[in-house]
Amino acid sequence: MRRLVSAWQSLRVRDFALRAQRCPYCGPSLIVRLRRDETGVRCVRCGASAVHLAIGWALRRYAPRLEASAVCELSARGPLARHLACAARSAALSEYRSDVTPGAERDGVRCEDVQSLRYADASFDLVTHTEVLEHVADDTRAFAELRRVLRSGGLMLFTVPLHEGPTRERARLRHGAIEHLLPAAYHGDPLRGGGAIVVFRDYGADIVTRLLAAGFSGAWIESADAAHGYWGHARAVVCARR
Ligand SMILES: [Zn+2]
Repeated sequence: MRRLVSAWQSLRVRDFALRAQRCPYCGPSLIVRLRRDETGVRCVRCGASAVHLAIGWALRRYAPRLEASAVCELSARGPLARHLACAARSAALSEYRSDVTPGAERDGVRCEDVQSLRYADASFDLVTHTEVLEHVADDTRAFAELRRVLRSGGLMLFTVPLHEGPTRERARLRHGAIEHLLPAAYHGDPLRGGGAIVVFRDYGADIVTRLLAAGFSGAWIESADAAHGYWGHARAVVCARR
């Protein structure tokens, strides 16, 4: 709701559009466009953003039997987490908090660091996350961890902001401090009241190559499906573990 309110507050009148459309989470709904970017698109019923809509449609297409699936999602709130908690056989939901030991809880929510997950090997049929990996210092470790917790035959669906050209490292960790290689970039973090979190890299389409190098199979970027009619360029990345 806070995201929806902040989206309303940044409404640009010329960009405003409203369309009756099906939402992958809540069914027949209205999708509103407040601005011409991914953060300006919302389902008015459940608040799903363009990113959530993209991964929601990918879920419907590639993970139709959620009721039989053990799922790991790297957030504990929002339409995707709510949907998985209701629809999946089991849903391990977590948040990242730098001041909480991975595996421990804060305010009833499990905390996990994708670079060092506390889940057992081969625990999940499906792993999902949205707009996480660009904020992770060591994504090679993250990919290895995400693959480790997937069962053979399991699937990972996720989103990151995708840019033109090859992946560019924007920052790195050196001796525990962030060193910027390009002008510093930050994204808002709703969990911490909208405070900024650093962007470690801009991913390009070669994220598929990175996933294959990390041992995933059949990695691809789901094209934005015009039939679903959402605005923006949010696209889901799909990969499997053999
Ligand atoms: Zn919805």
